[in-house]
Amino acid sequence: MSDANDYSFETKLLHNQHKFDPLTGAVSVAIQHASTFHQSDFNTFGKYDYGRSLNPTREALESVIAELEEGTHGFAFSSGMAAISTAFLLLSQGDHVIITEDVYGGTFRFVTKVLSRYGIEYTFVDMTDLEAVKRAVRPNTKVFYVETPSNPLLKVTDIKAISSIAKEHEALTFVDNTFLTPALQRPLTLGADLVLHSATKFLSGHSDVVAGLAVVKNTELAKKLGFLQNSFGAILGVQDAWLVLRGLKTLHVRMDQSMKSARKLTSFLQKNPVIKRVYYPGIADHPQFQIQMRQAYGPGAVISFELENEQAAKEFVSNIKIPVFAVSLGAVESILSYPAKMSHASMTIKERHSRGITDGLLRLSVGLENPDDLISDFTSSLSLINEV
Ligand SMILES: *Cc1c(COP(=O)(O)O)cnc(C)c1O
Repeated sequence: MSDANDYSFETKLLHNQHKFDPLTGAVSVAIQHASTFHQSDFNTFGKYDYGRSLNPTREALESVIAELEEGTHGFAFSSGMAAISTAFLLLSQGDHVIITEDVYGGTFRFVTKVLSRYGIEYTFVDMTDLEAVKRAVRPNTKVFYVETPSNPLLKVTDIKAISSIAKEHEALTFVDNTFLTPALQRPLTLGADLVLHSATKFLSGHSDVVAGLAVVKNTELAKKLGFLQNSFGAILGVQDAWLVLRGLKTLHVRMDQSMKSARKLTSFLQKNPVIKRVYYPGIADHPQFQIQMRQAYGPGAVISFELENEQAAKEFVSNIKIPVFAVSLGAVESILSYPAKMSHASMTIKERHSRGITDGLLRLSVGLENPDDLISDFTSSLSLINEV
Protein backbone atom coordinates (compact mmCIF):
# COMPACT_ATOMS: atom_id res chain seq x y z
CA MET A 1 0.00 0.00 0.00
CA SER A 2 1.26 3.45 -0.81
CA ASP A 3 1.99 6.00 1.88
CA ALA A 4 -0.81 8.48 2.66
CA ASN A 5 1.69 11.28 1.98
CA ASP A 6 1.74 10.23 -1.68
CA TYR A 7 -2.01 10.51 -2.11
CA SER A 8 -3.39 13.32 -4.17
CA PHE A 9 -5.40 16.04 -2.49
CA GLU A 10 -8.86 14.58 -3.15
CA THR A 11 -7.83 11.17 -1.80
CA LYS A 12 -6.26 12.75 1.29
CA LEU A 13 -9.60 14.40 2.08
CA LEU A 14 -10.95 10.88 2.77
CA HIS A 15 -7.99 8.67 3.53
CA ASN A 16 -6.00 10.54 6.12
CA GLN A 17 -4.97 9.51 9.65
CA HIS A 18 -8.62 9.87 10.72
CA LYS A 19 -9.93 7.41 8.14
CA PHE A 20 -11.21 5.28 11.02
CA ASP A 21 -11.13 5.35 14.80
CA PRO A 22 -8.27 3.11 16.03
CA LEU A 23 -10.31 2.10 19.09
CA THR A 24 -13.59 1.07 17.46
CA GLY A 25 -13.01 1.13 13.72
CA ALA A 26 -15.74 3.77 13.35
CA VAL A 27 -15.38 5.52 9.97
CA SER A 28 -16.38 8.89 11.36
CA VAL A 29 -14.39 10.86 13.94
CA ALA A 30 -15.96 10.43 17.39
CA ILE A 31 -17.38 13.54 19.04
CA GLN A 32 -15.74 13.77 22.45
CA HIS A 33 -17.83 15.99 24.72
CA ALA A 34 -15.75 15.59 27.88
CA SER A 35 -14.43 18.86 29.26
CA THR A 36 -11.98 17.13 31.57
CA PHE A 37 -9.94 13.92 31.53
CA HIS A 38 -9.08 11.55 34.38
CA GLN A 39 -5.39 11.52 35.30
CA SER A 40 -4.11 8.04 36.10
CA ASP A 41 -2.14 8.94 39.24
CA PHE A 42 -0.84 11.78 41.37
CA ASN A 43 2.10 12.57 39.12
CA THR A 44 1.03 11.28 35.71
CA PHE A 45 -0.80 13.60 33.40
CA GLY A 46 -2.11 12.20 30.15
CA LYS A 47 -2.02 13.81 26.74
CA TYR A 48 -5.47 15.29 27.35
CA ASP A 49 -6.27 17.15 30.55
CA TYR A 50 -8.80 19.88 29.84
CA GLY A 51 -11.01 20.52 26.80
CA ARG A 52 -9.83 24.05 26.09
CA SER A 53 -6.20 22.95 25.92
CA LEU A 54 -6.76 19.85 23.77
CA ASN A 55 -9.74 17.79 22.69
CA PRO A 56 -9.53 14.71 20.44
CA THR A 57 -12.32 15.82 18.06
CA ARG A 58 -10.91 19.29 17.61
CA GLU A 59 -7.44 17.77 17.34
CA ALA A 60 -8.59 15.58 14.42
CA LEU A 61 -9.76 18.65 12.51
CA GLU A 62 -6.54 20.49 13.40
CA SER A 63 -4.37 17.70 12.04
CA VAL A 64 -6.47 17.29 8.87
CA ILE A 65 -6.28 21.00 7.97
CA ALA A 66 -2.52 21.03 8.70
CA GLU A 67 -2.05 18.15 6.26
CA LEU A 68 -4.25 19.72 3.57
CA GLU A 69 -2.43 23.08 3.79
CA GLU A 70 0.93 21.25 3.76
CA GLY A 71 1.76 22.71 7.16
CA THR A 72 2.79 21.04 10.40
CA HIS A 73 0.28 22.32 12.98
CA GLY A 74 -3.38 23.33 12.73
CA PHE A 75 -5.56 25.25 15.20
CA ALA A 76 -9.35 25.42 15.28
CA PHE A 77 -11.24 28.46 16.55
CA SER A 78 -14.84 29.43 17.21
CA SER A 79 -14.98 31.64 14.08
CA GLY A 80 -12.79 32.95 11.29
CA MET A 81 -12.47 36.20 13.25
CA ALA A 82 -11.38 34.29 16.38
CA ALA A 83 -8.60 32.64 14.33
CA ILE A 84 -7.55 35.95 12.78
CA SER A 85 -7.70 37.90 16.07
CA THR A 86 -5.72 35.23 17.92
CA ALA A 87 -3.06 35.22 15.18
CA PHE A 88 -2.73 39.00 15.55
CA LEU A 89 -1.99 38.48 19.26
CA LEU A 90 1.43 37.25 18.09
CA LEU A 91 2.19 40.99 17.78
CA SER A 92 3.31 43.18 20.66
CA GLN A 93 2.96 46.84 21.54
CA GLY A 94 4.96 49.00 19.14
CA ASP A 95 4.84 46.48 16.26
CA HIS A 96 3.60 47.45 12.80
CA VAL A 97 1.53 45.45 10.32
CA ILE A 98 1.16 45.98 6.57
CA ILE A 99 -2.30 44.93 5.43
CA THR A 100 -4.00 44.59 2.08
CA GLU A 101 -6.41 47.51 1.63
CA ASP A 102 -9.35 45.38 0.58
CA VAL A 103 -9.16 43.07 3.56
CA TYR A 104 -12.28 41.38 5.01
CA GLY A 105 -14.42 43.93 6.95
CA GLY A 106 -14.11 42.13 10.28
CA THR A 107 -10.30 42.06 9.98
CA PHE A 108 -10.33 45.77 9.10
CA ARG A 109 -12.42 46.44 12.21
CA PHE A 110 -10.16 44.37 14.49
CA VAL A 111 -6.97 46.05 13.28
CA THR A 112 -8.26 49.63 13.25
CA LYS A 113 -10.54 49.58 16.31
CA VAL A 114 -9.02 46.96 18.63
CA LEU A 115 -5.30 46.38 17.93
CA SER A 116 -4.74 50.13 17.63
CA ARG A 117 -5.77 50.49 21.31
CA TYR A 118 -2.87 48.21 22.25
CA GLY A 119 -0.27 50.30 20.45
CA ILE A 120 -0.04 48.18 17.30
CA GLU A 121 0.41 50.29 14.19
CA TYR A 122 -0.91 49.48 10.73
CA THR A 123 -0.66 50.60 7.12
CA PHE A 124 -3.18 49.59 4.47
CA VAL A 125 -1.72 49.19 0.98
CA ASP A 126 -2.77 47.89 -2.41
CA MET A 127 -0.79 44.64 -2.25
CA THR A 128 -0.95 44.16 -6.02
CA ASP A 129 1.53 47.06 -6.09
CA LEU A 130 4.80 45.60 -4.75
CA GLU A 131 6.55 48.98 -4.80
CA ALA A 132 3.82 50.43 -2.57
CA VAL A 133 4.28 47.47 -0.23
CA LYS A 134 8.04 48.09 -0.03
CA ARG A 135 7.48 51.80 0.63
CA ALA A 136 5.18 50.95 3.55
CA VAL A 137 7.84 48.92 5.39
CA ARG A 138 9.04 50.40 8.70
CA PRO A 139 11.78 49.19 11.04
CA ASN A 140 9.05 47.77 13.32
CA THR A 141 7.07 45.94 10.59
CA LYS A 142 6.42 42.44 11.89
CA VAL A 143 3.53 41.10 9.78
CA PHE A 144 2.44 41.30 6.14
CA TYR A 145 -1.25 40.41 5.93
CA VAL A 146 -2.52 39.11 2.57
CA GLU A 147 -5.98 38.14 1.35
CA THR A 148 -6.12 36.79 -2.17
CA PRO A 149 -8.30 36.90 -4.22
CA SER A 150 -9.70 39.91 -2.43
CA ASN A 151 -13.27 40.75 -1.60
CA PRO A 152 -15.31 41.86 -3.52
CA LEU A 153 -13.14 42.89 -6.50
CA LEU A 154 -11.12 39.66 -6.71
CA LYS A 155 -7.74 41.37 -6.94
CA VAL A 156 -4.86 38.91 -6.78
CA THR A 157 -1.75 39.36 -4.62
CA ASP A 158 1.51 37.60 -5.43
CA ILE A 159 2.03 35.49 -2.28
CA LYS A 160 5.61 34.50 -3.18
CA ALA A 161 6.66 38.11 -3.81
CA ILE A 162 5.10 39.40 -0.57
CA SER A 163 6.60 36.53 1.45
CA SER A 164 10.06 37.29 0.12
CA ILE A 165 9.75 41.00 0.96
CA ALA A 166 8.59 39.95 4.45
CA LYS A 167 11.58 37.60 4.86
CA GLU A 168 14.00 40.37 3.91
CA HIS A 169 12.61 42.32 6.86
CA GLU A 170 12.38 39.31 9.17
CA ALA A 171 8.62 39.72 9.30
CA LEU A 172 5.91 37.06 9.03
CA THR A 173 3.43 36.63 6.18
CA PHE A 174 -0.18 35.78 7.09
CA VAL A 175 -2.55 34.72 4.29
CA ASP A 176 -6.33 34.54 4.58
CA ASN A 177 -7.05 31.59 2.27
CA THR A 178 -10.83 31.53 2.73
CA PHE A 179 -11.75 32.21 -0.91
CA LEU A 180 -9.69 29.43 -2.50
CA THR A 181 -9.05 26.84 0.26
CA PRO A 182 -6.13 24.38 0.04
CA ALA A 183 -7.99 22.65 -2.81
CA LEU A 184 -6.86 25.54 -5.02
CA GLN A 185 -4.10 27.44 -3.21
CA ARG A 186 -1.52 26.50 -0.55
CA PRO A 187 0.14 29.67 0.71
CA LEU A 188 2.60 27.85 3.01
CA THR A 189 4.22 26.27 -0.05
CA LEU A 190 4.60 29.77 -1.54
CA GLY A 191 6.53 31.14 1.42
CA ALA A 192 3.76 32.26 3.80
CA ASP A 193 4.18 31.52 7.51
CA LEU A 194 0.58 31.36 8.68
CA VAL A 195 -2.64 30.51 6.82
CA LEU A 196 -6.03 31.61 8.12
CA HIS A 197 -9.53 30.48 7.26
CA SER A 198 -13.09 31.28 7.86
CA ALA A 199 -14.11 27.61 7.78
CA THR A 200 -17.66 28.96 7.81
CA LYS A 201 -17.31 29.28 4.03
CA PHE A 202 -16.03 26.70 1.49
CA LEU A 203 -14.28 24.38 3.97
CA SER A 204 -17.47 23.39 5.75
CA GLY A 205 -19.54 24.42 2.75
CA HIS A 206 -23.14 23.99 3.90
CA SER A 207 -24.04 27.32 5.59
CA ASP A 208 -24.50 25.48 8.88
CA VAL A 209 -21.45 26.21 11.02
CA VAL A 210 -19.30 29.19 12.05
CA ALA A 211 -15.64 28.18 12.47
CA GLY A 212 -12.07 29.37 11.96
CA LEU A 213 -8.75 27.66 11.32
CA ALA A 214 -5.07 28.56 11.33
CA VAL A 215 -2.11 26.54 10.05
CA VAL A 216 1.64 27.04 10.44
CA LYS A 217 4.66 25.08 9.20
CA ASN A 218 7.13 25.85 11.92
CA THR A 219 7.32 24.38 15.45
CA GLU A 220 8.39 27.63 17.05
CA LEU A 221 5.41 29.53 15.64
CA ALA A 222 3.11 26.58 16.44
CA LYS A 223 4.14 26.79 20.11
CA LYS A 224 3.37 30.50 20.23
CA LEU A 225 0.01 30.15 18.48
CA GLY A 226 -0.98 27.12 20.57
CA PHE A 227 -0.16 29.11 23.70
CA LEU A 228 -2.35 32.00 22.47
CA GLN A 229 -5.19 29.65 21.48
CA ASN A 230 -5.23 28.23 25.00
CA SER A 231 -4.73 31.64 26.68
CA PHE A 232 -7.36 33.55 24.72
CA GLY A 233 -9.59 30.49 24.68
CA ALA A 234 -11.67 31.07 21.52
CA ILE A 235 -11.60 27.37 20.62
CA LEU A 236 -13.99 25.54 18.30
CA GLY A 237 -16.65 23.39 19.97
CA VAL A 238 -16.68 19.66 19.24
CA GLN A 239 -19.99 19.50 17.34
CA ASP A 240 -18.79 22.26 15.06
CA ALA A 241 -15.37 20.63 14.63
CA TRP A 242 -17.20 17.50 13.48
CA LEU A 243 -19.32 19.49 11.02
CA VAL A 244 -16.19 21.01 9.46
CA LEU A 245 -14.56 17.54 9.23
CA ARG A 246 -17.72 16.26 7.55
CA GLY A 247 -17.80 19.18 5.09
CA LEU A 248 -14.12 18.77 4.22
CA LYS A 249 -14.68 15.30 2.75
CA THR A 250 -16.46 16.82 -0.25
CA LEU A 251 -14.33 19.98 -0.50
CA HIS A 252 -12.69 18.97 -3.74
CA VAL A 253 -15.85 18.00 -5.64
CA ARG A 254 -17.69 21.05 -4.37
CA MET A 255 -14.89 23.44 -5.37
CA ASP A 256 -14.47 21.75 -8.72
CA GLN A 257 -18.15 21.87 -9.63
CA SER A 258 -18.70 25.41 -8.33
CA MET A 259 -15.66 26.63 -10.24
CA LYS A 260 -16.85 25.01 -13.49
CA SER A 261 -20.20 26.74 -13.08
CA ALA A 262 -18.49 30.02 -12.16
CA ARG A 263 -16.53 29.90 -15.42
CA LYS A 264 -19.71 29.25 -17.39
CA LEU A 265 -21.57 32.06 -15.66
CA THR A 266 -18.66 34.43 -16.18
CA SER A 267 -18.75 33.88 -19.97
CA PHE A 268 -22.48 34.42 -19.90
CA LEU A 269 -22.18 37.64 -17.86
CA GLN A 270 -19.41 39.02 -20.09
CA LYS A 271 -21.71 38.72 -23.12
CA ASN A 272 -24.74 40.34 -21.49
CA PRO A 273 -25.12 44.02 -22.47
CA VAL A 274 -26.72 44.97 -19.13
CA ILE A 275 -23.55 43.99 -17.26
CA LYS A 276 -20.97 46.80 -17.19
CA ARG A 277 -18.08 44.80 -15.81
CA VAL A 278 -17.22 41.32 -14.58
CA TYR A 279 -14.52 40.61 -11.97
CA TYR A 280 -13.13 37.06 -11.91
CA PRO A 281 -9.46 35.96 -11.75
CA GLY A 282 -10.20 33.30 -14.37
CA ILE A 283 -10.72 35.88 -17.12
CA ALA A 284 -7.64 36.22 -19.35
CA ASP A 285 -7.68 40.04 -19.21
CA HIS A 286 -7.89 40.13 -15.40
CA PRO A 287 -4.87 42.32 -14.44
CA GLN A 288 -3.29 39.56 -12.32
CA PHE A 289 -4.40 36.57 -14.42
CA GLN A 290 -0.83 35.29 -14.84
CA ILE A 291 -0.10 35.45 -11.11
CA GLN A 292 -3.32 33.62 -10.36
CA MET A 293 -2.44 30.89 -12.90
CA ARG A 294 1.01 30.54 -11.36
CA GLN A 295 0.12 30.43 -7.67
CA ALA A 296 -3.25 28.63 -7.63
CA TYR A 297 -4.89 25.65 -9.28
CA GLY A 298 -7.88 27.73 -10.30
CA PRO A 299 -9.72 31.04 -9.93
CA GLY A 300 -12.30 29.84 -7.40
CA ALA A 301 -16.06 30.19 -7.36
CA VAL A 302 -16.70 33.83 -6.46
CA ILE A 303 -17.58 36.35 -9.18
CA SER A 304 -18.41 40.04 -8.88
CA PHE A 305 -20.25 42.00 -11.55
CA GLU A 306 -21.44 45.51 -11.98
CA LEU A 307 -24.83 46.78 -13.06
CA GLU A 308 -25.61 50.37 -14.04
CA ASN A 309 -26.59 51.67 -10.59
CA GLU A 310 -28.29 50.86 -7.30
CA GLN A 311 -31.75 50.81 -8.90
CA ALA A 312 -30.62 48.19 -11.44
CA ALA A 313 -29.04 46.09 -8.66
CA LYS A 314 -32.24 46.34 -6.63
CA GLU A 315 -34.40 45.29 -9.62
CA PHE A 316 -32.08 42.39 -10.33
CA VAL A 317 -32.09 41.15 -6.73
CA SER A 318 -35.89 41.34 -6.50
CA ASN A 319 -36.26 39.38 -9.74
CA ILE A 320 -33.71 36.63 -9.17
CA LYS A 321 -35.06 33.32 -7.80
CA ILE A 322 -32.31 30.75 -7.25
CA PRO A 323 -29.44 32.34 -5.26
CA VAL A 324 -29.96 33.12 -1.60
CA PHE A 325 -29.63 36.88 -1.08
CA ALA A 326 -27.38 37.01 1.97
CA VAL A 327 -23.95 37.76 3.40
CA SER A 328 -21.42 34.91 3.40
CA LEU A 329 -20.17 32.70 0.59
CA GLY A 330 -18.77 29.27 -0.15
CA ALA A 331 -21.89 27.15 0.26
CA VAL A 332 -23.70 24.42 -1.65
CA GLU A 333 -26.38 26.97 -2.53
CA SER A 334 -25.39 30.03 -4.59
CA ILE A 335 -25.24 33.20 -2.48
CA LEU A 336 -25.76 36.66 -3.92
CA SER A 337 -24.53 39.65 -1.90
CA TYR A 338 -24.68 43.41 -2.26
CA PRO A 339 -21.32 44.66 -0.89
CA ALA A 340 -22.39 48.34 -0.67
CA LYS A 341 -25.00 47.50 1.96
CA MET A 342 -23.51 44.31 3.39
CA SER A 343 -19.75 43.68 3.72
CA HIS A 344 -18.75 47.29 2.97
CA ALA A 345 -21.63 49.16 4.58
CA SER A 346 -19.39 50.71 7.25
CA MET A 347 -17.10 52.32 4.66
CA THR A 348 -17.77 55.94 3.68
CA ILE A 349 -19.38 56.29 0.23
CA LYS A 350 -16.35 58.20 -1.01
CA GLU A 351 -13.91 55.53 0.20
CA ARG A 352 -16.10 52.75 -1.17
CA HIS A 353 -16.44 54.37 -4.60
CA SER A 354 -12.74 55.17 -4.79
CA ARG A 355 -12.06 51.46 -4.29
CA GLY A 356 -14.40 50.48 -7.15
CA ILE A 357 -17.14 49.11 -4.92
CA THR A 358 -19.90 50.93 -6.72
CA ASP A 359 -23.65 51.05 -6.04
CA GLY A 360 -24.25 48.64 -8.92
CA LEU A 361 -21.78 45.97 -7.75
CA LEU A 362 -23.02 42.49 -6.81
CA ARG A 363 -21.06 39.45 -5.66
CA LEU A 364 -22.03 35.88 -6.43
CA SER A 365 -20.65 32.80 -4.72
CA VAL A 366 -21.53 29.99 -7.10
CA GLY A 367 -23.02 26.86 -5.53
CA LEU A 368 -23.90 23.42 -6.83
CA GLU A 369 -27.07 24.14 -8.79
CA ASN A 370 -27.13 23.17 -12.44
CA PRO A 371 -25.36 26.16 -14.07
CA ASP A 372 -27.94 26.22 -16.87
CA ASP A 373 -30.67 26.85 -14.29
CA LEU A 374 -28.60 29.72 -12.88
CA ILE A 375 -28.07 31.13 -16.36
CA SER A 376 -31.82 31.01 -17.15
CA ASP A 377 -32.56 32.69 -13.83
CA PHE A 378 -29.98 35.39 -14.57
CA THR A 379 -31.22 35.80 -18.15
CA SER A 380 -34.78 36.52 -17.10
CA SER A 381 -33.82 38.73 -14.14
CA LEU A 382 -31.45 40.78 -16.29
CA SER A 383 -34.01 41.13 -19.08
CA LEU A 384 -36.50 42.59 -16.62
CA ILE A 385 -33.99 45.34 -15.75
CA ASN A 386 -33.80 46.17 -19.45
CA GLU A 387 -37.47 47.04 -19.39
CA VAL A 388 -37.17 49.52 -16.51
C1 LIG B 1 -16.15 35.36 6.46
C2 LIG B 1 -14.73 35.75 6.35
C3 LIG B 1 -13.94 35.97 7.49
C4 LIG B 1 -14.50 35.91 8.91
O1 LIG B 1 -14.90 34.63 9.26
P1 LIG B 1 -16.07 34.30 10.31
O2 LIG B 1 -16.13 32.83 10.28
O3 LIG B 1 -17.31 34.98 9.78
O4 LIG B 1 -15.66 34.89 11.62
C5 LIG B 1 -12.60 36.25 7.31
N1 LIG B 1 -12.06 36.35 6.08
C6 LIG B 1 -12.79 36.19 4.96
C7 LIG B 1 -12.14 36.30 3.64
C8 LIG B 1 -14.14 35.87 5.05
O5 LIG B 1 -14.86 35.70 3.94
